[in-house]
Amino acid sequence: MLLGIDLGGTKIEGVVLADDGGELARRRVPTEREHGYDHIVDRIAALAGELRALAPTCDRVGIGTPGSLSARDGTLKNSNTTCLNGRPLRDDLARALGLEVVMENDANCFALAEVRAGAARGARLAFGVILGTGVGAGIVIDGRVWTGPQHVAGEWGHHRISDDGPPCYCGQRGCVETFLSGPALERAWGDAGGAPAEATVIAARARDGDARAAGVVAGWIDRFGRALANVVNILDPDVVVLGGGLSRVEALYDRGIDAVRGYVFNDELRTRIVPNALGDSAGVIGAAWLAQR
Ligand SMILES: [Zn+2]
Repeated sequence: MLLGIDLGGTKIEGVVLADDGGELARRRVPTEREHGYDHIVDRIAALAGELRALAPTCDRVGIGTPGSLSARDGTLKNSNTTCLNGRPLRDDLARALGLEVVMENDANCFALAEVRAGAARGARLAFGVILGTGVGAGIVIDGRVWTGPQHVAGEWGHHRISDDGPPCYCGQRGCVETFLSGPALERAWGDAGGAPAEATVIAARARDGDARAAGVVAGWIDRFGRALANVVNILDPDVVVLGGGLSRVEALYDRGIDAVRGYVFNDELRTRIVPNALGDSAGVIGAAWLAQR
């Protein structure tokens, strides 16, 4: 059996999977992050203890969390649950749970879940992308997350695609995230004179024939094509699977694919670019698959 926990800013979700991936149990508790780091560790430990009672043979737990993990010591950075940043969450949880802890960021868990149980099932090399408030990605090769010696594999959101692009919180300018995230699309819409609107609303207006929205979304799609073609040229993945709130924008799967094709260094594009199949469950399912030996 596999035990996985997805740590989010508002909820902590845990799951027990059978060895074949069938779901045996699922529990959810609020994160209560306002009570701080130690409280969150206790919440996770209590949830894991409850689930482990159902899966007593598990000696390992997979944990998915936002932010990036240091390859040096497993501390977190860039987590939007800011009390976790700089803290040795992996080691503290291992101590509290009495279990081995395998921890990955949410984009890596997403990619792994879609390969094991979702839209990229069976792919040898998959690139999973989260397009939401930020832009994250993960690489899965032969059913395993590829992290690399610095633990930065898949950090596509901070791949710089323009020297004079918008400033990014990471200290660079023109990162993929500064063009493709929801806030980036909303900013481009505002710059074009549009009244404040959510990214998915802007995309819907473009689809319904609003010329100004169509212009803004066309620019967004073009950046998507450039940025993803860079990935295809390097990894040549079998599948790119899209998640996050903006993965629902239908134009990504026709004009978006055309845009990628136009920038790839080849006369055809065989890589499938598909929406996710697991929705919000991908995080916890991917976390559980992390625990597989
Ligand atoms: Zn950046």
